[in-house]
Formats: sequence, structure tokens, C-alpha cells
Amino acid sequence: MNRTANTISSGTWETMSKARRKEIRRRRARAQQLRTLRRIFAVCFVVVVLSTVTAMLWTPDRVRGRLNSSTSEGSAIRVGFSSRSATTGDSKASNAFGSDSSPSNDSAKAAKATLKHSSKRFDKAAQLSDLQDTGTLVLINGDHKITDMPPRTSMDKAWPSVPVASQDIELHPKALAAVVELFAAARKAGTGTFQVNSGFRDHAKQAALYKQIANKSTVQPPGNSEHHTGLAIDIVPILSTPQGATKAPQSSTPQQQSSLHEALDGSSPEERWLAAEAWQHGLILRYPLGAQDITGISFEPWHFRYVGKPHAWYMAQHELTLEEYLQQMRKRGGYDVTIGKRSYSVRYAVPKNGVVYVPSDRRHTLSGDNSGGYIITAWKQMGK
Ligand SMILES: [Zn+2]
Repeated sequence: MNRTANTISSGTWETMSKARRKEIRRRRARAQQLRTLRRIFAVCFVVVVLSTVTAMLWTPDRVRGRLNSSTSEGSAIRVGFSSRSATTGDSKASNAFGSDSSPSNDSAKAAKATLKHSSKRFDKAAQLSDLQDTGTLVLINGDHKITDMPPRTSMDKAWPSVPVASQDIELHPKALAAVVELFAAARKAGTGTFQVNSGFRDHAKQAALYKQIANKSTVQPPGNSEHHTGLAIDIVPILSTPQGATKAPQSSTPQQQSSLHEALDGSSPEERWLAAEAWQHGLILRYPLGAQDITGISFEPWHFRYVGKPHAWYMAQHELTLEEYLQQMRKRGGYDVTIGKRSYSVRYAVPKNGVVYVPSDRRHTLSGDNSGGYIITAWKQMGK
């Protein structure tokens, strides 16, 4: 033991038993491994954080909207069909309306809606011939011609209840009431002013329009337009006249209207608001982007259709076109849902020997779908 202090460690090391040295080397190696692992984890973490932040900053609004919303029933409603739902098995291009609506109070109410699919039929047999067909869910498209054109006398003049492009515009009373509500909501929300550009069209009017409009992907031939029902409404923002309703309507030619429509792409805040809000008043955006192979009509951010609640809610929530909604009802039979203070039961029925089943204990309406089926909508008011 003649080693000096400065060689104590090596001396100690050298004097250690072989086994002890091995043990110490093993521990050092392990510590080194741990340090390396920790460094790798730290680097990975930083990379993940940085790439997430970068993605958030660079992701366009509509994609972010899609990322932020879950597909559960409770999610805020997306009206633009940015991601076609799994129920259709389709993955369509994202949409000009792709981002979520900022959830208003009513959206929040809808978020609490509890949906239960059910095909349990109602309890009371009724003769179809004794029931009134409201026609509000009638399907009119390239494959489904209108069978009973409602008379002009059953329509209401839109002016002066709402701003219009021309004083002779008429709408189905239910559609007009919905538009009045929608425009009032727009005023309240400070979203701007809108006007009705078109409503009910008879056979002759649709025939003239069909001849005049060059772009046939935005117009149906006479007999195949849902404008014949008075339930379809063309709505455009009034960008230059904030006084809106007080403005005297000016008549515009179909060409003028058509070029005005072509200027719309669904991206303005007004159009986005419309698309997001419509369902709350029983209206749907009838021809969303990415659904032309289903509807037969290209994206029309101006064309809305009255279907009534809860159907508009369901279609908006599940991102379905009217075609897909009716198909789903046929397949699933129906559903029960409470929206706000109203509880609804919706059933699809194909009459047998002219008989359908309706509820014996609740108010209800019935509408044919123009494909041999009927949708019965029953409702009950919950509390006060
Ligand atoms: Zn239209």
C-alpha cells in the first residue's frame, strides 16, 4: 500500500476485486444507457410538440374545424359535409362550409340531444286516405318527378315578410315561416341581411328557366325541380344594402340571378352562418359540395329546402343529403330524439293495404317521400 493520494482511485480500482470492478462497469454502462434513452425521449418529445404546433398554425380553418369536432352525437353541428360520414362509406372532398359553426345556444341545446334509433312502430292503425300528406319530406330530383304540383293558391307571397329579389316570389307557408325565423336570427346575430331570390316555380316558369340557364348542373328540367313544391328557397346575402327589408324589391332576370349565384362559393361569413344555422329553423342546405353524384346537382350554397325539425337536425348532425336521409330511414325504421324541450319520434312506414301506424297519444304529421314510403313525425312538449 505505497500508493500516493493522487492515485488512490486507480489504486482503489486496481485493488478492487474483479467481480466488484465488473459490477461497477455494469452500473456505469446502465447509467449511460439511461442517459442516452432520456436524451432520445426528450428529442422525440420536442419534435412532437413542435410538429403539432406547426400543424395547428398551418392547418386551414376548415380542416381544423374537422379535427376539433368529434363525430359523436354531442358534437357541434357541421353543415357543410366537410367529411362525409362513415354511414355513407364515402370520403368526399372537403367543403367550402367545412368548418364548424360557432355553437350558438341552440346548438348547445342540440348537443344535449339524445338520439335513439328505433323501428318500433306506433300503436294506432290509420287509413292513409284519412291522413293529410304535408309533403314536406317529398323527394324531387332527377330520378323523382313531382307527382302532385301544389296549386299557386296554396303559396304565400314572400314580400314584405322578407326581403326579396322580386315581389312575385311565393313560398310554401311553412318554408316562408322558417325563412322569416332564419332572417330574424341573422339580424339578432348581426350576421348581415339576406334576401330570397327564388321560391315556388310552376311548370312554365321552370321550363323557361331551364332554357335560359346554360349551366345545367345547377338547374333541373321542369317536373324535376323541388322549386315546384314551394319548399325550396334560394337565399343570398345582400352585401351592399344593409337596410335590407326596407329596400323595395327589384326584379331581376334569371340571367342576373344566375350570375349572382355563380359569384357565391359558400366561403363568406354570411353563407357559412346560413349553412350552419339553417337546421334550427327546419331548413337544410340541399346541394352540399361533394354530393353531386347523390343529388345530381352541383354545390349550391344558396339553395335551401324546408324539411322541418327534427329531420333538418338529423341531416345536419349526420351530414346527410335528403336522398341519404330517406334511404337511412327506410333501412333503420326511425328514431327518437329530444331537441331542446321537444321530444320527437320519427318512423318510416310503407303502407300495407293502405294502412300506416300513427301514435294514439301524441300530435303527429305525415309526409310521403315520393318513393312509396311515408315519414310520420310525432312530438311532445317537455315541461314549460
Ligand atoms: Zn334553387
